[in-house]
This record gives sequence, structure tokens and C-alpha cells, in this order.
Amino acid sequence: MRNLIISDVHANLTALEAVLTDAEPFDQVWCVGDVVGYGPDPNECIERIRALPRLKCVLGNHDAAILGQINIDAFNYEARASLEWLQTMLRSENRQWLAGLEEALAFDDITIAHGSPRDPIWEYIMDVNTARQNMDAFRTKICLVGHSHFPLIFKMDSDRKSSTHLYLMTTGEGFTLDRKSIVNPGSVGQPRDRDPRASYLIYDDEDETWVYHRTPYDVEAVQKRILAAGLPIRHAARLAEGW
Ligand code: ZN
Repeated sequence: MRNLIISDVHANLTALEAVLTDAEPFDQVWCVGDVVGYGPDPNECIERIRALPRLKCVLGNHDAAILGQINIDAFNYEARASLEWLQTMLRSENRQWLAGLEEALAFDDITIAHGSPRDPIWEYIMDVNTARQNMDAFRTKICLVGHSHFPLIFKMDSDRKSSTHLYLMTTGEGFTLDRKSIVNPGSVGQPRDRDPRASYLIYDDEDETWVYHRTPYDVEAVQKRILAAGLPIRHAARLAEGW
């Protein structure tokens, strides 16, 4: 099966549609959280994602905030402004769908958690020490995370004492993971690695190969919708440069 892995869509329907088109064909979809927050299309993104084939999706920190599960004051000013806007926009059936999401899922060789396996909602895995500590917090071979919006792989070293990390830089090239690893597909709707293109992974579970992809989308169209909705101008500006 070809598995499409997406994370941090952040209510950016144009980026999501570009990824879904670029990723064809795929058999099932794994979504690593933060479907909403920041962007102008929360209902549309939820409705598009929940209709995807054999979907597995976990809860992100923005998704949890809109459900009242974490305090909105924990977010910076701009993120809070979009969460407050979202409170008034989110349709009740979409809120209910978010409320049904788990914080983490494990199946076959895969664990999925938005932040980290030991702290799915809040922890960022950005360095090898944090990654190593988290290697003992999941039982499967691979853990998929999001949250940082950086496409990254952390691999357990053969001595099991440390982990190494690799930035996913080469798009379109296949790779295999022979050791326990934590993998971040990067962000669909708000990349932060200075590359504005939407980021995603394809995992073929028959030959166990992973392929990392970036795809361009119409950033200006999304910026216009952000401004028209009265959302912070910063959310529009950052999309053009990927930060
Ligand atoms: Zn996010």
C-alpha cells in the first residue's frame, strides 16, 4: 500500500489540495495533527481530510486548544488570534470530529503522535537528545511526529545510546529506515524551513521505502483569504517565505 503522510495542514486548503493531487495515487492517509489553526479554511480542511481513504489522524495542540482541552493563553498572540477566530467559525460537526481524535495511535510498525510519543500535544523534537529520550516512549519501529514543521529524521544509533538526525533535503528520492526512527514529514500548510512549498511523505509498506516530497501551491490565494478573514497579517506574510 502507498501511504500518504501529512501533518500541520493548519487550515490551508490550497496547500492540502496541491499535496493530494501531487501525491496520487495513494491507498491510505496518516495525518499527524494540527488540521486547524493559523489558516483561513478550517471547515474545508477538516471536511476534505475526514473523507480521505482509510484515514488515521491524531490530535494536535491547535486542535486540542479549540476543543478547550488546553488553555488558549499558552499560545502566542497571533496564534491565539486565529484560535479565537476559529471558535466562531468551526462548525459543530467538525468540532465533534476533532473531539473524537486520539492523542496518539499505534498500529503495525507505526506510532503517530503530533508532538512526541511521550508528550503528544506539547513537546517538540528538534534535537538528538530529545529524540533519544523519546525512542524509549514508543514500541513500534517508526514514530511519526509533526509540530515543529521541520522535515526531519532521527535515527537510533546502533549502540542504542544515542540518536543521529538528518534533515530531509532531497525531494523525490527514496530511502529506507533500518533502525528505530522518529520521522517528521514537515508541514503541508505552514512550512518553517524557509522553503514555502508544501511538504509530505509517501511510505510504500511493501518495499518499505519512504519518499519525501515538496510541492508548490498558490500562496497568494491563501494570503488573500487570510487577510479577508481578518486574521493576523503575519500568518499571510510567513507563507511566502516559509517561516
Ligand atoms: Zn503546527
